[in-house]
Amino acid sequence: MRMAISDEDIQKVREASDIVAIMGERTVLRQRGRDFWCCCPFHNEKTPSCKIDPSTQLWHCFGCGEGGDVFGFIMKSEDLSFPDAVRYLAERAQIDIKDSGRSGMSTSAKARLREVCAATDDFYHAQLMRGKSNDAAQARSYLAARGFGGTVPKKWHLGFAPGRQSLVRHLSSKGFKPDEMIAANVAVSRDGSRLNDRFYNRVMFPINNPQGECIAFGGRVIGEGEPKYLNSQETPLFHKSNVLYGLDKAKNAMVSTGTAIIVEGYTDVIALHESGIQNAVATLGTALTLQHVRLISRHASKRIVYLFDGDAAGQRAADRALAFINEEMTPEAGKARIELCAVTLPDDLDPADFVAKRGADELKTLVDNAKPLIAYGIDRRLAAHDLSSAEGRTRALADVLVVLAPIKKSMLAKDYAIQLAGKLMMREQDVLDALEAVQPPRAYDQREEDMPAPQGLAFDVQLPEAERSRRKFERRLLSLFAQNPVIALEHVETLVQTQWHELTHSQLAECILRILEENPAASPATIVSAVTAQYPRAAGLLTSSSFDDAGNVRDIARFLVEELEIGDMEQSLAAMNAQLKSPEIVDDDERDIVFQACVELQKTIAAKRAAHGVGLTP
Ligand SMILES: [Zn+2]
Repeated sequence: MRMAISDEDIQKVREASDIVAIMGERTVLRQRGRDFWCCCPFHNEKTPSCKIDPSTQLWHCFGCGEGGDVFGFIMKSEDLSFPDAVRYLAERAQIDIKDSGRSGMSTSAKARLREVCAATDDFYHAQLMRGKSNDAAQARSYLAARGFGGTVPKKWHLGFAPGRQSLVRHLSSKGFKPDEMIAANVAVSRDGSRLNDRFYNRVMFPINNPQGECIAFGGRVIGEGEPKYLNSQETPLFHKSNVLYGLDKAKNAMVSTGTAIIVEGYTDVIALHESGIQNAVATLGTALTLQHVRLISRHASKRIVYLFDGDAAGQRAADRALAFINEEMTPEAGKARIELCAVTLPDDLDPADFVAKRGADELKTLVDNAKPLIAYGIDRRLAAHDLSSAEGRTRALADVLVVLAPIKKSMLAKDYAIQLAGKLMMREQDVLDALEAVQPPRAYDQREEDMPAPQGLAFDVQLPEAERSRRKFERRLLSLFAQNPVIALEHVETLVQTQWHELTHSQLAECILRILEENPAASPATIVSAVTAQYPRAAGLLTSSSFDDAGNVRDIARFLVEELEIGDMEQSLAAMNAQLKSPEIVDDDERDIVFQACVELQKTIAAKRAAHGVGLTP
């Protein structure tokens, strides 16, 4: 990973940033033995399950599986990229770092785009508040009519875009260049020459990053006109799939309530916040993505509740959300998963109307009673059919099974299938058979192509016990190696030769090996950070095991290494046995050779087993 900051500077910042001190600034730490413990900042808990190890400078939460080094902690808690986390800590430690290697869209160019957005934001806001034109007055009365008068425009920094090149002229006078305005998507150049404002006669809603800096805009047409809503296009600062409108203002309420409410538009967000419901955010014209869910779960630890409008558009949005159901949502997927719920507002109301007519408390009750998304989806599908006829029930079954298909292997799906049998007056076994036969749709999977979650993958549940423990041993050994580089160097062969049972594990082994080859003196924190730079979800895995009794670690490593070695041998033995039975071997001599090899291998395995790990339970 190319970085604008040198490795030396990163190292300097790391040395000046004690993980215990930095986490201690944010949460109460308790010392237990050599380690410190705190309640995890990334999920809601009452008893501390997050451990900080001052000697390795690594932290790990045994509740939610998060973990990493000091940079990873800052990235998560401050929503920053790696380089920005380094800068953040450099500033804290008052270390001057050189930002070199400015290629592509460098951080300084991005900072420039943020300046364009900030200047645009201020310009629009001033136009709304003090604009003398008729159009500006119309914008003000439009907002007031929607209940967004008084302090609302100031608090949400709403604006008005007059268009007619007024923004382009303003930004030019401030020294911004045309290509900067185009890159920030506040100006467009249709024929490559004349520069125009992108937003024209619209009420403007600045879209902020979680730190509250403006990175894009949404504009609503005043009165009639199409498109009704216009958002900035994707820019180097703005990616729709991981930005939520209002998150900068909602994040504290999300932490305190544990819940995030997802609505459809900016005005819904503002209406809810103004009525006192401050944990509401909106996606920007897309369905909720897995990136959104991750972003939300940094703040809300328990539930995400979709609030769908009762109208047709709201119901289409609900259907889109159902596509989000996948195996990550089943309880088997692990304790750290946030629960996705949904509710439709009654009587075709939108959130703003609802709080205006029935009050915030009634909305809160609705949110509290929201059903899990799967149950919500099943009910929606059932409601679309006439369940009084046998044909209707058969069609309903087929329709509902599509919702369950992506998770059909889970216990949860089976539970739902049994309930469904009751509702459709069918035999349980028939419904279960139908569930078994249904084809999952093409996998909905926005996971980065990096890593499966370290623990608790839904399919893990299906694995035989032996296979699960094998994978557990692999994880534990990789975690041990990352935290004890000196011991890892003693087992380079294991890193190279082990037949890892998960692709992820072999990737991590290779990555650790490469880091140690480049720098045999790399510290645990450096290793975790370097691996994570390549595989973003590695940090949780590599910090997941504890090796408190330092004297014993070498023995544990030896035990795990032997365990994997014996496992690999048993696997080759099984392969050779299969070969013996296969009709491909016709030659008796060859059969004899394979047979002898089998016998030898069997002896070796038996000897290794006998000598293996007496009195050790890693
Ligand atoms: Zn946690």
